[in-house]
Amino acid sequence: MQNPDTIHESFSALDNDYERLSLRAIEIENHLHQAINQHAFTMVYQPIVESYSETMVALEALVRWRWKPNEFLSPSEFIPIAEAAGLILPLSQWILKTACIEFAAFQDEHQAPLYLSVNISPSELMANDFVEQVINACDIAKLSYNRIQLEITEHALLNDFDGAVIQLRRLHDKGVRIAIDDFGTGHSSLQYLHKLPVDVVKIDQTFIRNIHQSAELNADIQGIIALSHELGKLITAEGIETFEQAEFLRKENINTGQGWYYGKPMDIKTLLLKTSDLHFM
Ligand code: C2E
Ligand code: CA
Ligand code: CA
Repeated sequence: MQNPDTIHESFSALDNDYERLSLRAIEIENHLHQAINQHAFTMVYQPIVESYSETMVALEALVRWRWKPNEFLSPSEFIPIAEAAGLILPLSQWILKTACIEFAAFQDEHQAPLYLSVNISPSELMANDFVEQVINACDIAKLSYNRIQLEITEHALLNDFDGAVIQLRRLHDKGVRIAIDDFGTGHSSLQYLHKLPVDVVKIDQTFIRNIHQSAELNADIQGIIALSHELGKLITAEGIETFEQAEFLRKENINTGQGWYYGKPMDIKTLLLKTSDLHFM
């Protein structure tokens, strides 16, 4: 049996961890208020390439925040805090508009038509005016609705699945493409594929990281790919870091890939400069 003193020590370590985490969350939330008012964010864009030709076909917009002079904070950390603090809507609107405007300028310089893929947070999807916000952002940037892809996570669908279906159908009917992000990490993945107007399945990075780790894990990815193809969905694999991963996925006939192997997220100016000398463009 565990010594009561050891149990007590473990609990106080937990308490300390909790306290440290919540103090950090409070500090981030305090900074967020000001950052949103001052538009202290920037956007970067990561190429999504066709798997067999390695041609760039889309860009995923990712937000960046330099919250201290020499420190960027990961969106994985501040987006959930903005969501919990009720600050996500103004931030999301800024992201959508900025991404559409910057992308439209890039598209003007780039010959082949691309998609702009934007991450949508749970509250954003549930907002009454979500459809109008997307349409408005496209209109301001003079971007056709059929050049936009929205990335929705399974997590965003948990609160009000039927409401989400209605919003997404309205946008889909206008030509907007819908992608399920981080696919395979939730519990009801199949249900989403059947009931939502989904065009693209984005296989989560954890699956890609485990390619060649075991025959069983490879079979998991092959299962997701086969199922998605059977349902007529396009497949994007994210987090591709090595040639071996890219090759494996190409042979499995995924449609598009994304990851450091093809290109890291870049600001739009750098992307424009690199367009001519990156092998995938
Ligand atoms: P996500 O949507 O799954 O985005 C992919 C993340 O993987 C990005 O991290 C990207 O920089 C990173 N990544 C891309 N290729 C590789 C690779 O080869 N290896 C590894 N290890 N990582 C790779 P990032 O930009 O830090 O974003 C993290 C998460 O924060 C995103 O995950 C998304 O959930 C959220 N996020 C980022 N930008 C936005 C945004 O504009 N709006 C919303 N609502 N969420 C965002
Ligand atoms: Ca994403
Ligand atoms: Ca993802």
